[in-house]
Amino acid sequence: MNLFKKFYCRTFQIFMRAAIPFMPYRQPEILQSVNDVATVLKNKRIDKVLIVTDAGVVKCGLTDGLKESLKENAIAFAVYDRTMPNPTIDAVECARELYLKENCRAIIALGGGSAMDLAKACGARIVRPKKSLIKMGGLLHVRKKLPPLFAIPTTAGTGSETTIAAVITDASTHRKYAINDFSLIPHYAVLDYKLTLGLPSTLTAYTGMDAMTHAVEAYIGRSTTRKTRAKAIQAVKLINENILTCYNEPTNAEARKNMLFASHYAGIAFTISYVGYVHAVAHSLSGMYGLGHGLTNAVLLPVVLQTYGKKVQKKLSKLAKACGIASAEDKKAQAAEKFIARIYELNAAMNVPKSFEEIKDEDIPKMAKFANMEGNPLYPVPLLMNAKQLEKIYYKVKA
Ligand SMILES: [Zn+2]
Repeated sequence: MNLFKKFYCRTFQIFMRAAIPFMPYRQPEILQSVNDVATVLKNKRIDKVLIVTDAGVVKCGLTDGLKESLKENAIAFAVYDRTMPNPTIDAVECARELYLKENCRAIIALGGGSAMDLAKACGARIVRPKKSLIKMGGLLHVRKKLPPLFAIPTTAGTGSETTIAAVITDASTHRKYAINDFSLIPHYAVLDYKLTLGLPSTLTAYTGMDAMTHAVEAYIGRSTTRKTRAKAIQAVKLINENILTCYNEPTNAEARKNMLFASHYAGIAFTISYVGYVHAVAHSLSGMYGLGHGLTNAVLLPVVLQTYGKKVQKKLSKLAKACGIASAEDKKAQAAEKFIARIYELNAAMNVPKSFEEIKDEDIPKMAKFANMEGNPLYPVPLLMNAKQLEKIYYKVKA
């Protein structure tokens, strides 16, 4: 990256960092059980809601408890259950039409990151009927209060229940882009670990490593605060200690609970301190080939950390020591290496692949361009890279 661009990126990031204390960050109110949702709705005198979910979640019976408790409290509901991974603009519009047709007055997202992203974008379109989703991409283009939004994660990964972002795919260009606005932070987050007990092991691995990536990218970035560093450390420690237990013993309540809270803490960390190039590259890969978000992050995380090299050593070493991955006596370089090795070790223990057969040489420049557009100047990464430099990362994970 040339000096002028570097100067521009870093100045932008310094400005954004200085603005953190003045930004209207808020955290959702935490509810411990799906049954609490009906109580809140009743207090707000809301009698009809839209549930945004996906067919798999419905089939597993995960919406049953919520539906029953709504019925018991005489709250009617419409269900949009066609959420697919990587939600598209069309899907958001379908959900919005249903909300309006059924006269709903609140939105409940129940599912993984995709359901929550779709619900947030749907809420944004409801309060901004004249503004297209594409125009809402980027930072602070919604600027209007959403209808009451409840987020009920069924995976421990995205942390979307506490973040300002909704990631949407433009199906016509295969481009994924993020809408970031404080109004997208859900009003309520339901952290009910019982909903994650049946999560298949592959999803446990991918979503858990997504949360790990959130915490690591937030921590090694240049816009951290004392609070986000603490939350990131808590998250990495919990994930490091619990992810394999969840993978091997899916119904271990304690480990599931820990992972759900880890994912939430990682969400708090990255919504204030941002992610980095792992996410920028991952978004372009999953936009192009429909690969899962967590999977792409899991594969890319150690590779990007290695690419950052010396620039990230000090912070990775601190993180590794704080989480018990390296010992206090380890030298900086050694501790950082141990951290990266641990990520590879976790990936291997959960059968996460090391590369993607889908990647085609001719697609790489386009994807790198998207990653560059997403990452620069917004993400306060430890080492700035332009599109040409980012291309190398794709080759490293190409089978
Ligand atoms: Zn993520």
